[in-house]
Amino acid sequence: MKFEMQFSDNHSSSRGTLYNKGLNAFITSAKSSQKSHLEYNILLIEDNTAHAELITRAFEPHPNYLITTTDTLDRAESVINSANLDLIITDVKLPDGEGTDLLKTCHDCPTIVMTSFSNEKAAVTAIQSGAADYIVKSPETMASLPRIADRVINEWRLKIDQKLTHERQIRFTAILEATPDLVCIANLDGFLTYINQPGIRLLGITENEAVSRIRLTDFHSMEDGQKILSQGIPCAIREGIWTTETIFLSRSGEEILSSLVLISHRNDSGIIEFFSIIARDIRNIRAAEERVEYLAYYDTLTGLPNRNELRKRLEMEVSRVSRKKTHGALLFIDLDNFKNINDSLGHPVGDIVLKEIAQRLKSHLRGGDTVARVGGDEFVIILSDLSADSMEAVNQAGKISSHICNTVSLEFKNGGIDLQVTASIGITMISDGESNEDDLLRFADTAMYQAKKGGRNRLEFFSEHMSTDVSRQLDLEIQLRRALREDEFRLYYQPLVNASKEIMGMEVLIRWEHPEKGLLAPIEFLDVLESSGQIIEVGSWVTNTALKQMADWISQGVWHSDMILCINTSPRQFSDPEFTEMIHNQLDLVDVPAKNIVFEVTEHNIIHNIDEAIDKMNDLIQRGISFSLDDFGTGYSSLSHLKNLPVSHIKIDQSFVRDICEDADDEALVASILALSKHLRLEVIAEGVENTDQFELLKKHDCKNFQGYLFSKPLSVQQITRLLADNSKHA
Ligand code: C2E
Ligand code: CA
Ligand code: CA
Repeated sequence: MKFEMQFSDNHSSSRGTLYNKGLNAFITSAKSSQKSHLEYNILLIEDNTAHAELITRAFEPHPNYLITTTDTLDRAESVINSANLDLIITDVKLPDGEGTDLLKTCHDCPTIVMTSFSNEKAAVTAIQSGAADYIVKSPETMASLPRIADRVINEWRLKIDQKLTHERQIRFTAILEATPDLVCIANLDGFLTYINQPGIRLLGITENEAVSRIRLTDFHSMEDGQKILSQGIPCAIREGIWTTETIFLSRSGEEILSSLVLISHRNDSGIIEFFSIIARDIRNIRAAEERVEYLAYYDTLTGLPNRNELRKRLEMEVSRVSRKKTHGALLFIDLDNFKNINDSLGHPVGDIVLKEIAQRLKSHLRGGDTVARVGGDEFVIILSDLSADSMEAVNQAGKISSHICNTVSLEFKNGGIDLQVTASIGITMISDGESNEDDLLRFADTAMYQAKKGGRNRLEFFSEHMSTDVSRQLDLEIQLRRALREDEFRLYYQPLVNASKEIMGMEVLIRWEHPEKGLLAPIEFLDVLESSGQIIEVGSWVTNTALKQMADWISQGVWHSDMILCINTSPRQFSDPEFTEMIHNQLDLVDVPAKNIVFEVTEHNIIHNIDEAIDKMNDLIQRGISFSLDDFGTGYSSLSHLKNLPVSHIKIDQSFVRDICEDADDEALVASILALSKHLRLEVIAEGVENTDQFELLKKHDCKNFQGYLFSKPLSVQQITRLLADNSKHA
């Protein structure tokens, strides 16, 4: 009865909503059997009024019996249907049929059947059809009906209780068998008294094994079994419940990671009678958790640690360095031109390259080192346990880094892909107590950026001045953006002359008229324009302004049709995919002869993608434009390159001209450039001619064109316009 009370309570609480309809029905019937404690509804069917009277009177001293009397089966029917009866007492012979007929339809409460005279057969029939009891009517039997009713009702209630208990057991077992978890019961000796089918399957228990001979610890390693005995059982005894994670070793040898709950069960006197164990296979859950963990800390493409994991390891390295008084190094590696690979060969190829690079980087590391991927084409390496001596440590880091640089740039041959990738590496040393993780990452990044600026495929150690450089650079970027907006850039023009010092052209040179600092030369700002990419916009402004100036001079009649206007280009400008289009557009807008325009390129501009550069140049050459190779002699300067390039002019770098009178090597080099150019029919312009000795010596080697302070400094528009005007008067 205790159990039904509980269900009734639960039912009336909010948890009641959890029960399904079937269970509700179960609860309702449990409830109805409760009611009988208080009062009993009895239906008396008796057509003999005297008997009815007698019986009713017999019940009078028992106010908890509420008697409803009818005299026909038909009327009885409607009472049965409307009232919640606990007992029916019926006469056999009724005006509209036999009282026993009721037994066929009414099973909700017990029925006592009465006959007027003793009739064996009727009694047997009544009991067989389900009557709870049978009496032969006499004043005595009728007077004893309350006692009989009491017994019949109690027996009926007991029967219902037993039925409910049985049903409940069936349902509990069904639940236990339906749960996917292992559920078992163990006695105080640890032997099982029950285990559900899922448990049997999980552990691989076979049919011919006797469950009662099995202990759960049979399925554990010695260690885990010991833990259950020494910790689990005492805890379950003390606190009622113990939970843990454990590994079951199934009969087939499978290791099943499981969560386990061990519960002790006490009887009413508080003595422990048995234990129940519920265990769940959590291998899938754990695998999913591990996957989530992996995704949070590892890069899926390369399998390398990601930025999160890197930070953790860097933290560890920083504390290790201070503990062990050694050094570490942080390498920031950025692939050069990786974007080009992605853009031109597609992302799948880019992915292959990244995986291969990851592999190559890993191959260079020692046990405690870490390589992480922190961005698209960015990797970071922590070199651990370098020398305690700081110079030696720097040396080690440098050596390893240059090895890495070399391996990364090894040629790639993979399924038809044949290419070469290079990397720029920034290095910062990790020393005791000097910098935190954020600083270190920033330093290495700054150094990497410096390596890029220094021409890529190289390494650079971080030094303090770099960080000031970076803030200077950021500040300058902002100012330069303003300069373009506020029209602070100016163009200066430096004349090019022939051997007779007559003007044969001019080079366009940019200046920045800074509101506070005055006129600034390109050295002050050009590198920032370049690294920030602003050079593309500024370069376009230069071309546009110079072309308009030329158109102006033409209309003023001071432009000589043989003169050339040389415009500088930078690497970033030249590699811009829209470079040629930009020039075409400008030429469409400004009416000037293309044959008078020369674009100056350096080997730096073109070396990274020489075929593409040549295509671009040829495109513009089609339109009449010429190209000049600037700063010749300083770059890779293979003279052999020269014949492949569609340039018409070369400019000998001023560094050779400067020392030409003192340095025989420089003189020899200049002489050979001049000889070769003549052979290739290239015009040569010697830059930076500052004195007559240089001028004379160059002329001696048959140089025909010159530029330098000896003839003129770069001039403002007004100055050069005056000069051109004078010139055309003399002509
Ligand atoms: P560059 O192309 O080599 O230009 C020649 C540089 O040498 C100019 O410096 C010029 O003023 C300087 N110079 C000319 N004659 C002499 C001389 O006799 N002695 C000495 N010591 N120097 C002489 P500037 O104007 O400071 O320009 C520096 C560099 O900036 C240029 O070198 C060029 O690479 C770049 N640049 C200038 N204007 C532009 C531009 O509009 N666009 C781009 N992309 N670069 C430009
Ligand atoms: Ca130039
Ligand atoms: Ca130059």
